[in-house]
Amino acid sequence: MNRLAPYAAHETATRGRAHPEPPPAGHRGEFQRDRDRIVHSGAFRRLEYKTQVFVNHEGDLYRTRLTHSLEVAQIGRSICGALQLNESLCEAICLAHDLGHTPFGHAGQDALNECMTEFGGFEHNLQSLRVVDELEERYAEFSGLNLTFECREGILKHCSARNARELGEIGRRFLERRQPSLEAQLANIADEIAYNNHDVDDGLRSGLLQIAELKEVALFARHQAEVERRYPGLGERRQIHEVIRRMINEVVNDLIETTRAQIATVAPLTIDDVRSAGTPLVGFGERIAAEHLELKRFLRERLYRHYRVVRMTAKARRVVRELFESFHADLRLLPDEHREAAARLEARDGTNGRARAVADYVAGMTDRYAILEHARVHDPAAVS
Ligand code: MG
Repeated sequence: MNRLAPYAAHETATRGRAHPEPPPAGHRGEFQRDRDRIVHSGAFRRLEYKTQVFVNHEGDLYRTRLTHSLEVAQIGRSICGALQLNESLCEAICLAHDLGHTPFGHAGQDALNECMTEFGGFEHNLQSLRVVDELEERYAEFSGLNLTFECREGILKHCSARNARELGEIGRRFLERRQPSLEAQLANIADEIAYNNHDVDDGLRSGLLQIAELKEVALFARHQAEVERRYPGLGERRQIHEVIRRMINEVVNDLIETTRAQIATVAPLTIDDVRSAGTPLVGFGERIAAEHLELKRFLRERLYRHYRVVRMTAKARRVVRELFESFHADLRLLPDEHREAAARLEARDGTNGRARAVADYVAGMTDRYAILEHARVHDPAAVS
């Protein structure tokens, strides 16, 4: 590991775990232990069969939440090296950032949030924290993974004020408008870089996007022209990959330079100075920020709102909604362990608790499990 900057997250200064544990044995540090626990979790393995944009059964070549999370971690770690930030912490946050995602990507999360309106709502960042704090059942002495404060701080990327108030210490920064560590800020932007670029790739691969229309987007157009000039007649697959590779390189280099300059201006001495800086220090320069936004808008208009994607998301929303409604109306339809969880949470938190347990079950499903379970619950001909 490279030498850490003084304002990076240092393991020796961690704010610790909710349940105190002896330090990890010699070969790994606290944040490496966090990462290992995340990789060994059940929720992490389920990311393999959760949608990014395309539903899992649409093809084997598209990104899933698992490959997305690995790409995010790869981008995050390589930038940590350049900025002397803590790679292990950033990697752990990146790998965990989508653990709470529902099946069927944002469509699933929106549907579940609607179902939960009267019961405290559903936010996927908060659910990721819930997975690592409560839902994983792997250790004798505690529920969840008992991760460090720094890792949990990074996982809880956004949070409504109402939920922040209920969360106590980990939610405080949203009320006090403080920043998370640089490693957490970086994981957040690495996520954006990863999905913007791989959605271009998956969009082109699926035929829902065309190179010609992507030329409307400055970032793509610039690199596409350069690749075409340098390698005339290059096959389309290679051309696309060359362009995306160059786009990622440019935004990453811009991010590193801009962030270095912002760190130099604010001159934080410790991670607490980073937390109390008025704004995030990790970010793009003006031009790349605008171009990245342009790309994001393009993808929203042309890919996420493409009729074929919308058809898929409409079905997905229905599956999630109907699953929630059926289980919520009749807990006896739930598998034993989830029915027991619902009874436990209902005894503790009333109707909100009952609904939360149903949401936990539905959110934990993979795309294909949700489709199967929907058939088992709703299709009279399906074998249950
Ligand atoms: Mg993500």
